[in-house]
Amino acid sequence: MVDKLLNFDNTYLSLPQMFYSMVQPSVVPKPEIVIFNEELGQNLFEGSTNPQEWGELLSGNRVPEKTAPFAQAYAGHQFGHFTMLGDGRAIVIGEHINPFGERYDIQLKGCGRTPYSRRGDGKATLGAMLREYLMSESMFYLRIPTSRSLAVTKTGEKVYRDKAFDGAVFTRLMSSHIRVGTFEYARYYGSPNDLESLLDYTIKRHFPSLLQSKNPAAGLLEYVMNRQIELIINWMRVGFIHGVMNTDNTSISGETFDYGPCSFMNAFDLNTVFSSIDTGGRYAFGNQPAIIKWNIAKLAEALLPLLHPQQDRAIEIANEIIDKFDNQFTDKWYAMMFSKIGLVNPATEDRALVDELLTTMKSSGLDYTNTFSALKKSIPTKESQSKQSSQSHQSHQLDPLNSWITNWTRRLEESERGLLAAVGLMEKTNPLFIPRNYFVEKALAGADENDYTLFNQLLSLVKQPYSLVDDIEKYSSVPNNYDKNYKTYCGT
Ligand code: AMP
Ligand code: MG
Repeated sequence: MVDKLLNFDNTYLSLPQMFYSMVQPSVVPKPEIVIFNEELGQNLFEGSTNPQEWGELLSGNRVPEKTAPFAQAYAGHQFGHFTMLGDGRAIVIGEHINPFGERYDIQLKGCGRTPYSRRGDGKATLGAMLREYLMSESMFYLRIPTSRSLAVTKTGEKVYRDKAFDGAVFTRLMSSHIRVGTFEYARYYGSPNDLESLLDYTIKRHFPSLLQSKNPAAGLLEYVMNRQIELIINWMRVGFIHGVMNTDNTSISGETFDYGPCSFMNAFDLNTVFSSIDTGGRYAFGNQPAIIKWNIAKLAEALLPLLHPQQDRAIEIANEIIDKFDNQFTDKWYAMMFSKIGLVNPATEDRALVDELLTTMKSSGLDYTNTFSALKKSIPTKESQSKQSSQSHQSHQLDPLNSWITNWTRRLEESERGLLAAVGLMEKTNPLFIPRNYFVEKALAGADENDYTLFNQLLSLVKQPYSLVDDIEKYSSVPNNYDKNYKTYCGT
């Protein structure tokens, strides 16, 4: 019995009642695990994990003993507008503690209606859940903090959107689902005590070092800001566009989550947007830093009464923290970009080199991922010089950058640690593989017809994004003009 592997301890239920509703997942006709993450399973559970045994449990059909499932209440700013939300199609089955003592929410997404469903059906389509599975695993192997995917389970029922789709439940693991929107909910729908309870709980769960702090709310604000800066810089490193950075989708833990209309950018352009609902480009690739700052400001507003009893002083404290955002972000972003171009001893003057590279990439429509791998290959180390043929092939792709490459190579040669160190740094920083929309869509269309060949192929590629594995080239470009008409959807 898989129940024995589960080690639940639902501390969230110690919060005031307003923060959750006890809910049982809906029963479905015919649960069938279509994908189960055995590597993750091994990290979570002691003992064997035969995927077939999980179907009943991960579809929500059977609730394990010794847990009490709940849906979380939260609010949030969606595209700038404040609204009441909550888990409308997700239920936390329990907080599981793994053999290493780490706590994870096990959440079932798409398992039926909750008190927060509003007009929704609480269900999810197979395609949208497989997409979240693939994208979040990709982020994990890109070494970016993220929720994890344990399984996708078909339910045996149809879910109706613009037409009928196979229904599925997605099993998500996350160090917690506390969001900026949870604090907004406490502040605007709860009492001062409710807000304080949430702060205490969050600090114990995520930032225990703040327990001794003189101003824990200020500490929390600064920690969350720092984690989110790190996170967004990681997104910018690999060309990830979240697509719906509402405050309810911004985690306190600093993990990426809620993979709806997300995508990876192909040609470099800060204005890249794929989400069908983001007509104004609010969540465009290059807008993500400004948006996360805005979301952190919303967190600060929610925390105001805890920052200081006098509002003027509280606002000052919040501003002192948020005023550090811009410099901190810019410094860290350039540091990341310096790694992308292999500078082991960067200086402030090198910022111009980064700026110039991106300007040319944009004007020439160069692919973000492929350009950095081609640049790495173009570094004239002794090793690469014995492989002349691949170099001449590469140089064609880099033509628009010829004069930039001359300056850059000269700059690399100044480094004492030499060109090999640059190559090493670039290999660590720049993925060779990202799941590109074109192939993701093909894989999902296949899965809809019960053919998982391409989905599994992509899943194996996302696990080694920094290695030159066979077949990678086949999946490294998309047809011309594909992106022009490509749209992603929230996938409800
Ligand atoms: P998201 O865009 O996935 O972050 O969802 C925004 C809000 O809509 C959350 O409160 C979700 O729980 C809710 N929601 C999304 N899809 C559904 C659905 N099919 N049924 C009920 N609620 C939903
Ligand atoms: Mg959400």
